[in-house]
Amino acid sequence: VDEDLFCIGCGSKIQSENVDELGYTPKSAVKKGLETNELYCQRCFRLRHYNEIADVKLTDDDFLKLLNQIGSADALIVNVIDIFDFNGSLIPGLHRFVGDNPVLMVGNKADLLPKSLRRSKLKDWMRQQANLQGLRPIDVALTSATKNFAIDELLELIEKYREGRDVYVVGVTNVGKSTLINQIIKQRTGVQDLITTSRFPGTTLDKIEIPLDDDRALIDTPGIIHQDQMAHYLSGKALRLVSPQKEIKQRVYQLNDNQTLFFGAVARFDYISGGTPGVVVYLDNDLMIHRTKTESASEFYEKHAGGLLNPPTDDEMVDFPELVRFEFKATQKSDLVFAGLGWVTINEGAKVAGWAPKGVSVLLRKAMI
Ligand code: GDP
Repeated sequence: VDEDLFCIGCGSKIQSENVDELGYTPKSAVKKGLETNELYCQRCFRLRHYNEIADVKLTDDDFLKLLNQIGSADALIVNVIDIFDFNGSLIPGLHRFVGDNPVLMVGNKADLLPKSLRRSKLKDWMRQQANLQGLRPIDVALTSATKNFAIDELLELIEKYREGRDVYVVGVTNVGKSTLINQIIKQRTGVQDLITTSRFPGTTLDKIEIPLDDDRALIDTPGIIHQDQMAHYLSGKALRLVSPQKEIKQRVYQLNDNQTLFFGAVARFDYISGGTPGVVVYLDNDLMIHRTKTESASEFYEKHAGGLLNPPTDDEMVDFPELVRFEFKATQKSDLVFAGLGWVTINEGAKVAGWAPKGVSVLLRKAMI
């Protein structure tokens, strides 16, 4: 491309070098676009033709600008989170950015949690956890974007709380925000021309506006990258192996003091002492759990990570960060959370240690279930 070309959908400068950046258009598509006088970047092309939204990489600076704009708008904020990775999907400082705007919190991927779990109890728990982060949602909802569960209810809640205002949908990457918006588009319109893309002023970020009934719009914002998420430390294949796709089956272990569980080679749980025995593991059903003595666990890991203990595979172990240890004592029934991977529910009084790849957070929270 000799001269600067721009997408007629979003205005991004057309480029053919980096798939993840704004304006990406394969060379062949640029040629075709110029011939037909309809030059769209790949993202807008997909949006027009398949009603599909793709994510792009963005800088922190742009995010700050974006969040600040949301704060100064008069709007309903819909914060999509992954209910399976609650802590990993909170946006740090969101409560400060939203200003006086109401926040509707949507726990997506509800299909992953055991069906036996009472939804009303889970909503109370979400509210409590949000409050701990300083966020006071006006309401909470539970959806499954892939199973098309409770999307209608969500749209009703949005109508109820937006009171004639615009709606901004925000979320960190991988919570299912795109899937959810695509479902909403399908239910509301199905007509590609009703969707417009434009720029957040002063940033390189583009937004997608889905018209609502009254000249207002539902505005999709780019996914915010949360570095603590396990997703940033595993290869695509390994990530698929540890990301649950189906309803999680609880796995119960009666552990003695000083016993260890390995979750593949991605994480480790030490039961140090105390509490009533019995822990419940919530992880992808196919992720292998291996029990051993804590005393010899580190040696065992050295020897078997990438082999008997996998994922990651032997090849991937080369780039895989070392496991870092965090110790906790539970003062109530709690979940020891490995951000993005899952959690282990332990009883009051139990002393435990969680090990996760360096950079991935391990934390203790009030038990969800
Ligand atoms: P985004 O980065 O927030 O836009 O997330 P995506 O929409 O790209 O989804 C990330 C991953 O989560 C994909 O593998 C989706 O298939 C999956 N996903 C999205 N919604 C759901 C859901 O409701 N349930 C389950 N189990 N998976 C979901």
